[in-house]
Amino acid sequence: MAAEFVGMGAARLAAAVAEGEVTAAALLEAHLDRISALDGEVRAWRHLDLEGARAQAAAVDAARARGERLGPLAGVPVGLKDIFVVEGMPTQCSSRMLEGWVPGYQGTHAQRMREAGAVLVGKLAMDEFAMGSSNENGPDPSVHNPWDLDFVPGGSSGGSAAAVAARMVPLSLGSDTGGSIRQPASFCGVAGLKPSYGRVSRAGMIAFASSLDQAGPMALEVEDLALALELLAGADPKDASCVDLPVPDLRAACRGELAGMRVGLHRAALGLEGLDAGVRACFEDAIARMREAGAEIVDIELPHFDAAVACYYVLCTAEAASNLARYDGLRFGHRVPDADLEVQYAKSRASGFGDEVKRRIMLGTFVLRADSYEAYYGRAMKVRRKIAEDYTAAFARCDLIASPVSPVAGFRLGERVDDPLAMYLSDVFTVGVNLAGLPALSVPSGFAKVGERELPVGLQLIAPAFEEARLFRAGAAFERLTPALRERVPPLLAKGGA
Ligand code: GLN
Repeated sequence: MAAEFVGMGAARLAAAVAEGEVTAAALLEAHLDRISALDGEVRAWRHLDLEGARAQAAAVDAARARGERLGPLAGVPVGLKDIFVVEGMPTQCSSRMLEGWVPGYQGTHAQRMREAGAVLVGKLAMDEFAMGSSNENGPDPSVHNPWDLDFVPGGSSGGSAAAVAARMVPLSLGSDTGGSIRQPASFCGVAGLKPSYGRVSRAGMIAFASSLDQAGPMALEVEDLALALELLAGADPKDASCVDLPVPDLRAACRGELAGMRVGLHRAALGLEGLDAGVRACFEDAIARMREAGAEIVDIELPHFDAAVACYYVLCTAEAASNLARYDGLRFGHRVPDADLEVQYAKSRASGFGDEVKRRIMLGTFVLRADSYEAYYGRAMKVRRKIAEDYTAAFARCDLIASPVSPVAGFRLGERVDDPLAMYLSDVFTVGVNLAGLPALSVPSGFAKVGERELPVGLQLIAPAFEEARLFRAGAAFERLTPALRERVPPLLAKGGA
């Protein structure tokens, strides 16, 4: 029975296929069964490519029958956030602007996953153009958190997190501009990695804010993130910002210990107004566990921490306004025809973009205007430098930094849609990492009460640029300290034949 494999990690599944314990075809059908049982309620998927996925699974089984060497993800079902370009698959970035677009070329991420033997199941829901923290932005129905359907899954990679949490796929890809992998990972109780800026190509990932965007994996296990990053990382001639650095053996790093690591603690941030008591308790518990395991906890300062959200929202909106200028309804995107070209641009953009995207285009256009550029964009660039310098100084005293991922364990669908500022402020723990170009991991660390409900909470670990190996060492060791967390699954799974 292939159903018993649903819920296992990606590396384990690839081994099962390679050993002949299960066929890729049966594995795919078992995961598709899970999707059809639960996705009516979770709504994580934007598009399922049944035919394509079945053909890929059959090709893996045929290759095995011929005795060929299989790739490290051979036969593993994988889902991609709808921001990734996949040849022949609708790619819409959850926007009406890109409705009907089916790319005629393969993006780097899809290509590298395919080369490793992964079976690409389809596209996962997200906030429109990756702008948001709740998956409520854009024309599509909201995604529901598998742990509690009344709650958001987080965003913008909410579909990618929810699909993994509901064990619909063992591995998905998301993107993180200001926290969009880590925050939904925390809300949905899965692991997620935002790589160093430049570690993974951005070619084939629709641009939001190009100096901040990074693609990364989400999975049930830290080691699967390591495997995925080994496959995704590395120079790409199609992206000059992607560096040509060797990728260390990240799976070997997962066998390391916390003992001997210096973990930085920014105590001042724990006094933050709005930091939920349950989230704080979870974090303090995680620190205590790491100390018991032999990590040395060191106090650090991040003097410009409080400026990160403002700085991020000036820079990301400026870059978004510029990147999204290409969608004019003429060269790219949804078109509302009009005899007057100016009117055609205006109508196409007015009806193609949703409210949050428009808000950011307006903000970004404002901060870039000649008469406000120095006061906003120029100043934010200086603050960005200060924030990066704070991290450099902190890393002179520690190997990595631990912090909460989000000030809250989650919030209800609809609760914050009318309060964009509250939504922006909740990015306080994640955006600094993107501004400084650092890698960071979100790993499940416990549960916290939200009213009478209980939701997962993640622990964030941050490392110096290109030191992902440290994150895997500490993250996998932390995971081994908390085995009970892996036993607990979303109550919804009882319905899916789990
Ligand atoms: N929540 C942040 C925003 O709305 C981060 C989004 C992201 O990382 N893509 O911009």
